[in-house]
Amino acid sequence: MDKIRVSVIKCESYDKEMLDPALDMCLNALDNFKDIIKPGKKILIKPNLLSPHEPEKAITTHPLFIECIIKKIINITKQPENIIIADSCVPTLPYTATGLKKLYEATGMSTLADRTGVMLNYDNGYSKISIAEGVSVKQIDVIKPAVTSDIIINVPKFKTHNLTITTGAVKNMFGIIPGMSKPGFHTRFFDIEMFCNLLIDINIAVKPQLTIMDGILGMEGNGPGRGGIPRKTNLILASTDCFALDNIASNIMGLAEDKNPILAEAKKRNLKGAFLENTELVGGSLSDLKIYDFMLPSVLRKEMNKNFITRILMRVAKDSLNPYPKINKKKCRGKSCKNCQKICPQSAIMNSKINRNDLIFDYKKCIRCFCCSEACPEGAISNEYTLIGNLIVNRYGFGRSKK
Ligand code: SF4
Ligand code: SF4
Repeated sequence: MDKIRVSVIKCESYDKEMLDPALDMCLNALDNFKDIIKPGKKILIKPNLLSPHEPEKAITTHPLFIECIIKKIINITKQPENIIIADSCVPTLPYTATGLKKLYEATGMSTLADRTGVMLNYDNGYSKISIAEGVSVKQIDVIKPAVTSDIIINVPKFKTHNLTITTGAVKNMFGIIPGMSKPGFHTRFFDIEMFCNLLIDINIAVKPQLTIMDGILGMEGNGPGRGGIPRKTNLILASTDCFALDNIASNIMGLAEDKNPILAEAKKRNLKGAFLENTELVGGSLSDLKIYDFMLPSVLRKEMNKNFITRILMRVAKDSLNPYPKINKKKCRGKSCKNCQKICPQSAIMNSKINRNDLIFDYKKCIRCFCCSEACPEGAISNEYTLIGNLIVNRYGFGRSKK
């Protein structure tokens, strides 16, 4: 069986003289950078733009790192206008044109776009995609550029994360979930295994063709935000497989794949990149690259799960931040069908006691996976928000009218 190649190169600085040849060596080792990038294709650069902070905080992918990648793409395509940078950041900053402008200015993306001629995404609309193999969800809303682009280049940061311990290639794709939907998912999938399966589902549905990780200035400790500590880790990693890349990055941080909750779930799903033995590391040995005193987060999710008040608050938030399924009785075929009832993993759809032909939901049991909506042959199940949810999502979330 062919192994998945992960290329790792040491690089100590974002200075062009050092970064440019290092990135070349890293990408050339993959042997297919030029095959992936084609003139005429629309390319999404998906950095980690978690929150509006300057690059020195190590919270976001460094603009000089992104710029170096962009210039390599433009050298091939000569079409900067076909490249767009997009991400949906923490919802404390609304996913609106104004919020995005602040994000781009703080993280250095605005000046980067001025220098290179690439686009910045200001469209806060979203599109629904289906995930046939999804374990946690069967359909999901993603930001527009994730579906309108031909190629996705994932450019995550080498960081720790209080919830998933590390945040790298797989977790970075959570940023294609628009605005207020993100905390909604955190409340729906409070259980860490389910949340990791959601991340895996997203990566299966929207598979980046290439991932290039900025590990020059990494983050250790209680990441991924201000609680983390920037640390010079002097690395660039690249692969066509997010799971394989994360596997190497996690092991470099001192976290074996079985202890990494995302990779552990990916292993259960038999994803090739989650198994270290399926990975070919180019550019050094793991023992040489490993950072033996790297600080992982001290506050782990298992401890949070024991916190009763946190759990109650999450339950309350779950109902307002997540859409719920609703049946349009005029479209529903009733008892001649019942596909939704058969497929529901929670047995949350029942026959109405008033009219046996009608179906009703038990919203306490419902995990908002929307398998029912996916299975409905009549398109009779819609996603609705509560009144409060609607207000929050429209004020701080995404442009619901722009489907
Ligand atoms: S009713 Fe069942 S299938 Fe539909 S969203 Fe809820 S849990 Fe999923
Ligand atoms: S799958 Fe659709 S049409 Fe069939 S019973 Fe459910 S809501 Fe009605």
